[in-house]
Amino acid sequence: MPRYANLAIIGAGIAGLSCATALRQAGLAVTVFEKSRAPAGRMSTRRADDWQCDHGAQYFTAPDAAFRAEVARWQAAGVASLWQPTLAVIGDAALHNTSASLERFVGTPRMTAPARWLASTLSIKAERTITALQRHGAHWQLHCAEEGLIESTFDAVLLAVPAPQVVPLLAEPAPLLAELARGANMRGCWALMLRFAARVELPFDAAFVNAGPLRWIARDSAKPGRTGPETWLLHASAAWSEAHLEASAESVTTSLLAAFSACGGPTPEAATAHRWRYADTMPPLEAGCAWDPATKLGLCGDWLNGGRVEGAWLSGRKLASELLQANVN
Ligand code: FAD
Repeated sequence: MPRYANLAIIGAGIAGLSCATALRQAGLAVTVFEKSRAPAGRMSTRRADDWQCDHGAQYFTAPDAAFRAEVARWQAAGVASLWQPTLAVIGDAALHNTSASLERFVGTPRMTAPARWLASTLSIKAERTITALQRHGAHWQLHCAEEGLIESTFDAVLLAVPAPQVVPLLAEPAPLLAELARGANMRGCWALMLRFAARVELPFDAAFVNAGPLRWIARDSAKPGRTGPETWLLHASAAWSEAHLEASAESVTTSLLAAFSACGGPTPEAATAHRWRYADTMPPLEAGCAWDPATKLGLCGDWLNGGRVEGAWLSGRKLASELLQANVN
């Protein structure tokens, strides 16, 4: 009988899903608890009746061979495609790689698609915000905001959530893991989604911006597989976002529209702002993941593995492999 046969994962972002997929493939029972209505985390798309826009991760690269093979599976399933935008740099061009030879991928028909596809073969409990972990003999039980104490018991619990959300959950049951999470400096990012009645006549599909509040602008509706009206996505820089984290959506909208206009962008028909509290980690950590056999608790996520979609997916895989290793030793 394996030591860890029945597992809980908290967080259905790409790290939690990659970890759950690897553990399921090894024959373990895995339940993923997710506080949102659906999986994908920061690989996120805002959808309304007649428009959609990726407002978290914009694209992903896959220099790692294992992740590239996973992306090939996603491509074969129709949930990801190569994105070959006309790219520009506004400001110092030396700061960015705009080379067309760098493969950039997006989820199709939206950024959430790879996560939804992975989740379709897993047991996901959505709208379950885990608020505490409780010992039950040699096992763990979870409390959630929506239904209180969850009856099932688990041999181990793996947290695949941003570092600041690890801290309150593990401060008491696993102070060392909580300390590791406390050491990760995650930064915010303001996003602004713009809708237009007609095509925006800018000579690029996306641009890295190195001046003013913005760091990235993209014609979201021109990514592969998208339909619907012209939409653009603006991301503010980490420095500007951090300085304006508590500003109102209205004042952020005004500032970012002025910056878009300075890039040559017209006034949109409508704009929707979204604040990401935890977009990236600076400086990045390189631990990969963390597994504590004494408490039977583990951590994975982008913040432990250099950031980004690829780092998150690899972190989930690494945690699964450490746990499987512990199961046979
Ligand atoms: P997440 O995606 O954050 O998943 C964590 C999940 O845990 C979430 O679904 C959350 O709802 C859930 N959760 C949290 N707390 C609880 C709880 N208590 N109970 C239950 N569930 C909980 N990466 C790139 O590669 N390229 C990019 O261009 C890029 N751009 C980005 C732009 C922005 C604005 C942002 C925000 C991110 C960007 N990223 C980009 C980073 C990328 O999105 C992340 O690295 C990756 O998606 C992180 O995956 P994850 O699974 O580690 O975390």
